[in-house]
This record gives sequence, structure tokens and C-alpha cells, in this order.
Amino acid sequence: MPPENPAKPEIVVQGISASQGIAFGQIFVYLQSDVEVPSYSVDAEKRPGEIARFEKALVATRQQIAKIQSEVERTLGQDEARIFDAHLLVLEDQALIAETIRDFEATSRNIETCFNEVAQRYIHAFSKIDDEYLRERAGDIRDVAQRVLQNLLGQSETSLSRLAEKRIVVANDISPSDSASINRSAALAIVTDAGSRTSHAVIVANSMRVPAVVGMRDLTRRVSSGDWAIVDGYDGIVIVNPSEATLFRYGKIQDKKKSYEQRLFDANRQPAVTLDGTPVDLEANIERVDEIPQLRQYMAQGVGLFRTEYLYLNSSRIPTEQEQFLAYKAVAEALAPRSVCIRTLDIGGDKPMESNPELFAKEANPFLGCRAIRFCLNNPEIFKDQLRAILLASAYGNVRMMYPMISGMGELTRANALLGECKAELRARGQAFNEKMPVGAMIEIPSAAAIIDLLSAQCDFFSVGTNDLIQYLLAVERGNDRVAHLYEPTHPAVLRTLKHIVDEAHRHGRKVAVCGEMAGEPVYAPLLLGMGVDELSMTPSWLPAVKFLVRAMKIGDARALAAEALSMTSPREIYLKCDAFHRSRVDVE
Ligand code: PEP
Ligand code: MG
Repeated sequence: MPPENPAKPEIVVQGISASQGIAFGQIFVYLQSDVEVPSYSVDAEKRPGEIARFEKALVATRQQIAKIQSEVERTLGQDEARIFDAHLLVLEDQALIAETIRDFEATSRNIETCFNEVAQRYIHAFSKIDDEYLRERAGDIRDVAQRVLQNLLGQSETSLSRLAEKRIVVANDISPSDSASINRSAALAIVTDAGSRTSHAVIVANSMRVPAVVGMRDLTRRVSSGDWAIVDGYDGIVIVNPSEATLFRYGKIQDKKKSYEQRLFDANRQPAVTLDGTPVDLEANIERVDEIPQLRQYMAQGVGLFRTEYLYLNSSRIPTEQEQFLAYKAVAEALAPRSVCIRTLDIGGDKPMESNPELFAKEANPFLGCRAIRFCLNNPEIFKDQLRAILLASAYGNVRMMYPMISGMGELTRANALLGECKAELRARGQAFNEKMPVGAMIEIPSAAAIIDLLSAQCDFFSVGTNDLIQYLLAVERGNDRVAHLYEPTHPAVLRTLKHIVDEAHRHGRKVAVCGEMAGEPVYAPLLLGMGVDELSMTPSWLPAVKFLVRAMKIGDARALAAEALSMTSPREIYLKCDAFHRSRVDVE
């Protein structure tokens, strides 16, 4: 333990919690900086050698990236490894290479200088493009260019790969190349100035199972390598130069958290019933058929949300009715008799299909544009293929279906009419399906929340997508870290809307699930259950923590919590009330 240093006051910095756990140790500040490139003229007799040197550096870079790619595939999986396909493509870019050689032949300056200038021009041009996907390619070119330059200059290692002793890595950002070369056994925690919950550093920290906090803005400028710090990945806090009292408090928290994790593990196999005997329906959100084994591991009672986008986004064409049927049938059969709720397609807007650009016009406000049910109703043939595939799968298990992003009665009526056409077509084909397959509407748009009574007449259940509902209710883009502080699940408007949805749905005999991220956060689960929500559906790995809490609380107390929260005015105070409720039930400080 370090001696308390009166010259260095304790600094507490709040960021975004990105990977759970607590770490204590010394900081290693890692600043990604551009490689310094010397500039000089190359004599005529050395020119052929210069081009050979360039080619050698390109080959070496390709080999390094391929090695990193297979390492990442082994440790993080195929999806993560795919990032490096884009890096390999940069190296194969004939325009970039030819332009470098042309510049070299015209100016006879050293090849590093020519390559660097061409690469910078590309980075600049890409970073100005309006399209987010292409803009991100600027980062790929920068990452690869740095590597080529390091190879040309004989500096092949990044300082992160030389990290030898156990340290908290505080970086401005962590690029895919950095994360692949980081010495995994030496990183105690990862903290970055940049980033939101979905940034690359977060994926890396989670895979390494080390605590992480992101979105710290300028922490790299406020600390030095060698400073001591605590990283609290649960609450997204970094405490630099912690006092003795803080260290003592965190020591106790860490002990409690460890025993909590053990108890979570033990409770996982027990039923989800509150202390006063109310059973609670805890289900899982999945996106892929290969997640089914996880459902058993985490004891999901069913699938409350099967997002079907991946079937389309991972494909070079629209999947056929038969291909979709096989995927939905696999989930239905694996879960039976438990239920699976298949959500119809939610693409378009910010999720276009790259392989079919003609279907997706560019929009100034994609979140308010032609996505989800709007896209499907504009493309009835694509939609009907999916509806028939879901109906066919309903013969093989307990299948429910729901439409995303319903904003009014017209959409629900038209979607149901197309469903009716599909049923008639299957009957004519003599193919079996469940005539009574329950059909629901997702409530993600404030206008839908306001007309639950009307929607109830045309659907069997509701599932609240709080991720989008909060975004549209508060006008806060869900992935935008500049306004992330305004994205408040405990805003009184959110609470009142949720309560209205539940009360109105129940008044019309319809059940209500919540399947947004809010459902999987133990802090919010009692609030939702206390308001009367019938089912919570979440990422499978969150199920044990929510189940543990359910088993440690009384539904009567949750109702009192919800009633009190609904009478309060400040989102922060409501959050603290929910947090205190949670902490007191699970005994974690
Ligand atoms: C939601 O909006 O809460 C939801 C579950 O849908 P998605 O996150 O897929 O938009
Ligand atoms: Mg949504």
C-alpha cells in the first residue's frame, strides 16, 4: 500500500462504468501519438532500395495484422477479429500504394515521408465524409499507417505491449491494434478519456475481465504514470491518490462484492420468487441462434426478445422464407415448452443493409426515419417472407411475435392485415402454423404509449423497449456520449409514461414486458416490478443479478418504492432511492 502523500490530494473523477470490478494500483499513462517521421532526400543510387524497403514494410505489416487477427479470433471471437479485415484491405489499397510510389518518384524524398503524406490525405478525406461507416475508415487507415511507419522506422512495438508490471492503463483511447498488443496479464484495469459503453476499449476490458471506466474526458492530462488509483468499474469512478480512509472503504466494498458474486452464483438455480411469494417472469434477449446454450446456463425462463436483424445484416442478400424459418424453428424447438418472442425486422434508419443500398435512402435523421415497421410496411414482400417464416416456426414450439417501433393504429392494422394474408397463403399451401399465435406491439415511441387503450384492441401483449422509448421521450440520442448525461431512465416523464402503459394495458387485460436495458439493471428492476410490469427480459448474463435481487425483496416493498418514486421530482434522487433499495436488499455497499 502506498504511503499517503499530502502533496497529492485525492481526486475523484466520474466517468461511465464499462466493465465491472474494482482495481487498485499504479497508473500507466498511454498516449497514442503519431510516429515522428524524419524527412530527407534519397540519392539516385539508393532509390530502388527505398521502394524495396517500402514493400518489405507492407509485407511485415500484413503479417503482423494477420497474426493479431488470429490471436483476437482465438481470444475474443470471430466478430471482433473482423475489424482487422478492414485493416488488411487498407494494405491492399492500390491507390494508396501507387500514390506513395508516384510521390517518391516525383520528389525523391524518403519513402516514409511520402507514405505519411499520402496516408494523411486519405485520413483527412475520409474523416470529412458524411457517412458514419466511411468516416470510421479514417481510424483504420490511421491505425495501419502508424504500423507501416513503425516498421519502416524499425520501431515495431507499441508501448502497451511493453507493459510489464501490473498497472492501471489510462489512455486517451484504445484502438483495435492497441488492444491486440496489450499485455493482458499486466493490465489491472482500463480507463479511457474517450468512449461510450459500446467503444472498443469496453469490449476488450470485458473480454479480459478487468474493470473499466470510459468517457473520462481529460484524465490522461490530470495524472502521471506512477500515480496510485482505485478504479471502480461498478460505479464508473476513478479515485486518484486515494486517502487511507478511501482505501479502507474500498477494501470493504471489494470483500462484499466478492461474496455477493459467490451468492449470485449459488442463487442462479433457485426459482425467481420474491420473499413474499410472488413469482417473477425473467426472460432473455437474444440475437442469434448460437446463444441458446447461454439460456440454459443462465436459467432464462424464456426468450422475451429475439432480435432478428442479424439474419439480414450479416448476409449479402435478404434471407429467404426458408432460411428464416430454419433459424426461428431452431429457437422455438430448443426452448419449448418455454416461449420465444420473435421481433419482426428492425433495420433501416441507422442500421441499413450494406448489401442492398437501393432499399435504404440516406436520411438526415435516421432515428426518425424509415426504420423497423415503417421499412417493413414499405417493403411488404420482404416483410411477408418474415411473417410466413415466423408463422411456420410457431408449429414447432411456443412462439409469440411482436412488431417494433409501432407509432400508431394505422401501422398495427396494416401489419396485422399482412399477417392475415400470410396466414391465408399458408392455409392454401396446406402448411401448419399456430392460428392463435400471440401478437404484440413494442412500445418504444411516446405516441404509442399514449394510445395503449386503442392498441389493446389489436394486439395480445406489449413489450416496452425502454432504450428507444427514453431516447424519443427525452429527445436524447441513445448512443451519443455528448448527451449521455441527459439519458435518464429515472426522469419523472419516463416513470409516469411507464406507469401509464402498465395501468392502461392491465385495464384492457394485456400483459406488459420490459425488454430494454433498464430491465436488466438490478437498480431499476424493483421499480419496474413495483409499477406492475409482468415480465423483465434482458441480456442473458444479467439474469443472475436480477434474480438474486428478486429473491431478496418483497413485492410490497417494490410497490412502495414505485409509489414514492412517482411522487418525486429529481431524476438523481429517484435513482439514489432505487440504488439504496437495491443495496439494502443485496447487502453490497
Ligand atoms: C429497445 O429499444 O429498448 C429495444 C429493446 O430495442 P432495440 O434496443 O433493439 O432498439
Ligand atoms: Mg428499440
